[in-house]
Amino acid sequence: MRVLVVEDDQSLGVFLRKGLMLEGHEVEWVGDGDAALEMAAQQVPDLIVLDLGLPRRDGTEVLEAMRRNFPSTAVLVLTGRSQVQERVRCLDLGADDFVLKPFSFHELMARCRALLRRHEHFADPVLRFGGVEMNRMERTVSYEGVSIDLTAKEFTLLEFLMLRRGVCSSRAELLTQVWHSTPAAGTNIIDVYVTYLRRKLAASHPEDESGELVIETVRGSGYRLRDKRRIPRFEQPSTQIQTAQEDVQAVVELARGA
Ligand code: CA
Repeated sequence: MRVLVVEDDQSLGVFLRKGLMLEGHEVEWVGDGDAALEMAAQQVPDLIVLDLGLPRRDGTEVLEAMRRNFPSTAVLVLTGRSQVQERVRCLDLGADDFVLKPFSFHELMARCRALLRRHEHFADPVLRFGGVEMNRMERTVSYEGVSIDLTAKEFTLLEFLMLRRGVCSSRAELLTQVWHSTPAAGTNIIDVYVTYLRRKLAASHPEDESGELVIETVRGSGYRLRDKRRIPRFEQPSTQIQTAQEDVQAVVELARGA
């Protein structure tokens, strides 16, 4: 499912994005109200996790605009404002649910799952990023309109990179999440598969002989998909969080201290 996180607290934004991504969602994260509406117009999300206190355009204004323009998107409001009137106003404006800060990450995820279950039937099974289009239901992939045959493992690796939407994935993360194995010293399986993928993506595009225009090597870190056509948003910090478990723990701590 496609989730848009709108949160101006950078650390919280990073962790929410990663936590939702690890649940298998395609997640975008923006830090202000204008960028939220711009991003939603580009690709209508199934769910918006929306902070109320935002720069440029307040969360309630975003909520109103979302309801007017994208009525099928579920909206979960994150708010530090505990007044009852504020919550009533959000619900009246069309929020589907809200969570008070500080919140438990597990509760937030459970509420997201509940909202997404209701929207499942309307979800678009197609992921799109950097000229690559992937239909997760039909298991088909095309690059700049040319279809590409991938093995099951190549498909899963590309799917993971697409879900990260341009954020760097370390080799350790790819081994854990795609190969479900413990990172063993000296293994180069990731690099081998990235080379396979690059070859297939580049085969019908002579201008991208190496395939590096699609899958970029981040020196000393890992790999990420490249998309030059993106609208500006936060610079993604290259946080290399070791495991999903630590990541979720960090979110819990962060949310509690928020
Ligand atoms: Ca805020």
